Amino acid sequence: RGGPKNLPIAEVFIGDDDTEETRAMKEKPRLVVLGGGWGGVALLKDLNPDEYHVTVISPTNYFLFTPMLPSATVGTLELRSLVEPIRRILHRCRGHFIRAQAEDVEFSHKLVEVSQRDVNGQEVRFYVPYDKLVIAVGSTTNPHGVKGLENAFFLKNVDDARKIRNRVIQNFELACLPTTSDEERKRLLSFVVSGGGPTGVEFAAELYDLLNEDLSRHFPRLLRNEISVHIIQSRSHILNTYDEAVSKYAEERFNRDQVDVLTNSRVKEVKEDKIIFSQKLEDGSVVTKELPTGFCLWSTGVSPTAFSITLAKKLGDAQTNRHALETDTHLRLKGAPLGDVYAIGDCSTVQNNVANHIITFLRTLAWKQGKDPETIQLHFSDWRYVAQDVRKRFPQASEHLKRLDKLFEEFDKDKSGTLDFGELRELLGQIDKKLTSLPATAQRAHQQGQYLAHKFNKMARLSQGLLANDVKDGDLDAAAYKAFEYHHLGSLAYIGNSAVFDLGEGWNISGGLWAVYTWRSVYFAQSVSFRTRMLMAMDWAKRGLFGRGEHI
Ligand code: FAD
Ligand code: MG
Ligand code: MG
Ligand code: MG
Ligand code: MG
Repeated sequence: RGGPKNLPIAEVFIGDDDTEETRAMKEKPRLVVLGGGWGGVALLKDLNPDEYHVTVISPTNYFLFTPMLPSATVGTLELRSLVEPIRRILHRCRGHFIRAQAEDVEFSHKLVEVSQRDVNGQEVRFYVPYDKLVIAVGSTTNPHGVKGLENAFFLKNVDDARKIRNRVIQNFELACLPTTSDEERKRLLSFVVSGGGPTGVEFAAELYDLLNEDLSRHFPRLLRNEISVHIIQSRSHILNTYDEAVSKYAEERFNRDQVDVLTNSRVKEVKEDKIIFSQKLEDGSVVTKELPTGFCLWSTGVSPTAFSITLAKKLGDAQTNRHALETDTHLRLKGAPLGDVYAIGDCSTVQNNVANHIITFLRTLAWKQGKDPETIQLHFSDWRYVAQDVRKRFPQASEHLKRLDKLFEEFDKDKSGTLDFGELRELLGQIDKKLTSLPATAQRAHQQGQYLAHKFNKMARLSQGLLANDVKDGDLDAAAYKAFEYHHLGSLAYIGNSAVFDLGEGWNISGGLWAVYTWRSVYFAQSVSFRTRMLMAMDWAKRGLFGRGEHI
């Protein structure tokens, strides 16, 4: 027992036998990873197995291949094909797994407080000690304070997908009963997706495919025109974080397929048999509407987990972002002792203060030229100079910063070819807003996990060999390894048998089977293991041969 709360301290044992190997393991630094999702697993995959004594703590004992989850809800893929047991992944680095939930961290004692239910169903709490801690706990669904969400479905994990699948099938069966009235049948076959982001859009597309391809075969009694799919989106476009052309393409596609896209609309309440939403009309007035439904998917974005909120509160002024835990460019948690705690993936964001940096830079520039910064007139050539410096300082933001040239034109409102201080201030505000967060994607979590693995490997190798004067201010991370740099590889969203690509630089849209296979192969290659790849390939082959309907 010990720590501030005098809880039991889990000595993560390595085995009692006093062999050379177990003794060696006891001397290694303890690396504790919270979460076994995209970020945590990417780290485990690239970590040198000999350097650390690894423990993973997570309430789920499998890794979930989330990009394919929408397909699993309608039976295009089997759920078991999308998961990989954490213990299997851990085997490589001879690590340990504790199935429990992180609740708090005692930073000065280097202890994680975790909770779990014991055999009697009682909550038990204990500490797990660490030398290095990686927080990769992901995010939760954002409720947006809407009433009646107990009537809605979510799509985050395997359980969610299974529940959705069962409900969809149940609705079809009920709709087929001879005792079901016409009105009731229409309601059962009305599917609502709240949220026009990639998850909602992909689910709607998958559902539409299912309805079209398989249902007429298995449920000949149901009429196609009695089935409806609706997407409710609060913004004026679906996929609004993507390139405009991409979201337009998706809308046209849904339009043709008679998927009903309701934009400028907000769900206010989800009831058992209908949803109530408000819609802003073109003349600016707002009307409240009802939509009878037999199913509502809630996928309107993410918010931090309770654990992340606890930590942010504890760290006080060092954490100012309401949406995620802030780290420095070496992915170290702001406010925690330097080099002890890291945060990656959806739960985190990299702080950069680009605007502050630019202001300082300009002050210096003005001072060198003997001018007052308030009266500065910035020429395009000066701006390029600034932009170059900014890109160098903020490599992780380089994707957004590519647009700096365009921004200059946009904010030179009077078209004078120079920016005055007011124009500049507006522009900087814009940059900071754009840069506050990296996207909450598997891609980003994966890159950050990999980055930490490579850094930890290097640090372990260097830890004895580093010369004192290489390490400034005790900053071992900076001495050992470069800052994290995010590479945007494009986003993908699946829209009914064609895929939409947003590759950052420009956009690219393709239809037909070719696109579907390209789309799949991207994730195929990223998929974690050969076993998973085989299972998915078999699912797709089965679907190709027999259709999707087997499970129904
Ligand atoms: P996660 O992968 O969510 O992992 C979090 C882990 O932490 C889980 O193991 C969880 O059980 C565990 N955990 C939670 N709380 C605690 C706690 N208190 N203590 C310990 N462990 C905890 N991204 C893309 O790039 N492309 C896509 O096509 C795509 N499609 C998606 C489709 C769906 C349906 C969903 C839900 C997400 C999709 N994403 C996609 C987003 C992507 O899954 C996330 O960005 C990614 O999972 C983030 O990785 P992470 O490691 O931060 O969190
Ligand atoms: Mg993770
Ligand atoms: Mg995951
Ligand atoms: Mg995370
Ligand atoms: Mg001007």
